[in-house]
Amino acid sequence: MNNEKHLVVISGPSGSGKDTVVKRLMELHPEIELSISATTREIRPGEKDGVNYVYLTKEEFERRIRDDEILEYAQYCGNYYGTPKSEVDKRLDNGTTVILVIEVIGAGNVKRIYPGAVTIFVRPPSYGELEDRLRGRGTESEEEIQKRLARAVEEMEYAVDYDEVVVNDKIDECAQEIYALIQKHQQADEEDTY
Ligand code: 5GP
Repeated sequence: MNNEKHLVVISGPSGSGKDTVVKRLMELHPEIELSISATTREIRPGEKDGVNYVYLTKEEFERRIRDDEILEYAQYCGNYYGTPKSEVDKRLDNGTTVILVIEVIGAGNVKRIYPGAVTIFVRPPSYGELEDRLRGRGTESEEEIQKRLARAVEEMEYAVDYDEVVVNDKIDECAQEIYALIQKHQQADEEDTY
């Protein structure tokens, strides 16, 4: 499907700053839309149901998997995270660029379903910076931080599977770089079509 190029998948380890970069990208380019995932993890202070995630019980999440309402999902540090089909289908049909900010296993599954999707991996400038960011936000327990750091090391190895890798050193520059890469892929596909 030609519209697959409108699907943009962004991953990066916890603490890479990918959420901040995506937020900036969408401020700069409001025509881009963000898919809101479902999760079974606890809501964090400052988050809103239906805005950051749709927060579900494990039973409800599993029901949605069974009823084929979830495009892709993965377990991350003991919780389910998944993309509702309803977040993606309509937007692809009408040619709206939609961003999924998801972990590496889910990203691989999306690429298998939609080979034309644009995948971008956001790296932190260094491991030390990643740890500082993760601790600095103060939203997780020490145990949770340790789990996320271990997972970050594993996730970094998946960077090679992505179409593009960017380093999040400065938020604005990284957001602009991601936008340019999206444009490049979408235009390259259009040229192939003609
Ligand atoms: P957090 O708990 O920090 O909000 O998210 C943990 C990880 O789950 C992050 O890497 C985030 O990108 C990923 N994630 C969020 N939503 C989804 C989703 O719908 N599917 C998958 N596979 N991963 C997700």
